[in-house]
Amino acid sequence: LIETTTKNDPKKITICGAGLVGCLAACYFAERDYEVTLYEYRSDIRNMKVVAGRSINMAMSVRGREGLKRIGAEESITSKGIEMYSRMLHDTKGNTQAVPYGKRSQCILSIDRRYLNELLLNEAEKYPNLTIEFSHKVKKCNTNTGEVVFENTLTGQEHHVKSDLVIGCDGAYSSVRQSLLKDKAVDFSQSYNCGYYLELQIPAKNGTFAMPPKHLHIWPRGDFMLIALPNQDYTFTCTLFMPLEMFEKIQTPEQAIDFFEKNFIDALKLMGNENFVQMYFATKPSSLVSITCNPHHGNKCVLFGDSAHAMVPFYGQGMNCGFEDVVVFFEILDSLGFDNIDKVLEKYSQTRVPDAHAICELAIRNYDEMKYLVTTRGYRLRKKLDSILNYLFPSSWVPLYTMVTFTRIRYSEVIEARKRQDEILRKGGLITGLATLAGLGYFLFKNKANLLSPILALKENEGFWYRIWGYWRSPAIMKMNGLWSDRKEQQFKSYLMSQRG
Ligand code: FAD
Repeated sequence: LIETTTKNDPKKITICGAGLVGCLAACYFAERDYEVTLYEYRSDIRNMKVVAGRSINMAMSVRGREGLKRIGAEESITSKGIEMYSRMLHDTKGNTQAVPYGKRSQCILSIDRRYLNELLLNEAEKYPNLTIEFSHKVKKCNTNTGEVVFENTLTGQEHHVKSDLVIGCDGAYSSVRQSLLKDKAVDFSQSYNCGYYLELQIPAKNGTFAMPPKHLHIWPRGDFMLIALPNQDYTFTCTLFMPLEMFEKIQTPEQAIDFFEKNFIDALKLMGNENFVQMYFATKPSSLVSITCNPHHGNKCVLFGDSAHAMVPFYGQGMNCGFEDVVVFFEILDSLGFDNIDKVLEKYSQTRVPDAHAICELAIRNYDEMKYLVTTRGYRLRKKLDSILNYLFPSSWVPLYTMVTFTRIRYSEVIEARKRQDEILRKGGLITGLATLAGLGYFLFKNKANLLSPILALKENEGFWYRIWGYWRSPAIMKMNGLWSDRKEQQFKSYLMSQRG
C-alpha cells in the first residue's frame, strides 16, 4: 500500500450521499488519512422514527462482504444478517421446493437496509478526520474544479465547498452525475423495462418466523412475482414485482384479495386479509430503473454505486457492486498514488465500466430467471448439469450464479465465461447426439442377423398370421366396423355350440 496522502498535507475529499456506498467510501478515505466530509441530503436516519423511501432488506454476498472486510467491519455487520442457503419456490397451491444457491456452505445474507446504513454511519463516525454533514443537498457540482454547491435544507442557505476530489454517491438520480453529464462527453442510458415493485410484510407468528427463515422465498408467476427475505425480528419483507398495468387493474380491496388468493394464497394467509389490504394500499408502487454511464469520472470527480450504475434488483448486486466499486478504486489508488489521480480515475473507469454494464445486463436477464425460468424443467436440468460439472471441474466450470454471488470474478468475465460454457454444452450436445446416432447405427449393422431373426421367424409361423386374421374377424371388431349381421350372429352361435360339443 502506497502512502497516498500525509497528515501534514491531507487532501480534501467531498463525498456526496451518506447512503450505503457513500459511508463505506468515506471510511476507506478516512483510513488513509484524507480529510473527508460526507454530505447527506436527509437528516440523521439514526434519529428518525420512519425513514422515507425504500425500506427493503438487502441480500449481501461476497463482493459486499469484501468491501466491509477491508475496513475491519465484516464480522460486526454480517453477524446481524440472516443466512439464506436456497431459493424456496412456492407454487399457486402453496407447495414449496428448495433450490440451493450453491454448495451447502454457500449462502447470501439478508440484512435490513436501514440498519446496515446506521451501522455504516457508526463506522464512519469512528474516524476523527471524517465529518458528516446531514441535511445538505447537492445542488450542483463543477466536476472540473471540484467545487460543489450544497443547500442546507434546514436553513435554506447555500454552501460552496472546494476539494481535491468529489465522490458522487448520491444514488440512482444523482445530482453529481447530472453535473458530470454537462461537463464531459459521457454516454448515458436509462431504462424502465422491468416494471414496478411494492413492499409488503409477513408478520412473526407465535414469536417466531411464519416460514422457514434460511431461504429467499419466491413465488414465480411468469409476468410477475413475489419474493420474501427474513428479518432479525422474525418478520419477512416481501416485494411484489409486476408490470404497472397489473398494479393499475387492482383498485379495490376485493380485487387485491382475489388476486392474492389466486396467486399467493399461502403468503396471503400469513399476512392476514385485513393487514394485507392495509399494506397494499398504503404506498404506491415504485419504478425500477437501470442506468449505465461511461466513463464514471470527470477531472475531479468519480461516481460510485447507484449514481454510476443503478440496476434492477434481480441479482441482489446493486449494493454489492457499489461496495466493490470502492474496493477496486482503492486497489488502483493505492498502487498509483493520489499524485497520479488523473491516471487513477482514467484506469478506474476503464476497469469498472465494462463490469458495471455487465452486471446491469445480468440483473435484467435474471428477472426472467426468477419470475419464470426457475419453474421450468430446462432450468432445473441446467442447474443440475452445472453443479455436476462444477463438482468434476471445480476451478474451470463455475455456475453463473456462483460466479456472480460467491466469487469476485469480474462481472464482464462472468458473461464471457457463461458464453463459453453455453458453447461447450451446445457443441457437447451436438457431439453426443451424433455419437449416439452413430453408435446406434453401428449396433444395428453389427447385429442385423440377430435383430431380424424374430421377425423372420414370425413370418414363417403360419399360426401367427392366422391369429392376426382371427382378430380382425372377431365379432367385437366386426361389430365395431359395422360388418356384423344377423346371419353372422347365427353362424357364430352354431360355431360356439359345436366347439362346446
Ligand atoms: P443509495 O442507497 O440510494 O444512497 C444514496 C444516498 O444519497 C441517500 O442517502 C440519499 O439520501 C443521498 N442523496 C440523494 N440525493 C442527494 C443529494 N442531491 N445531495 C445529497 N445527498 C443525496 N442491492 C443488493 O446488493 N442486494 C439486494 O438484495 C438489493 N435489493 C434491492 C431491492 C430493491 C427493491 C431495490 C430497489 C434495490 C435493491 N438493491 C439491492 C440495490 C441497492 O439498494 C442499491 O444498489 C444501493 O442502495 C446503492 O447504494 P448507494 O449508496 O449508491 O445509493
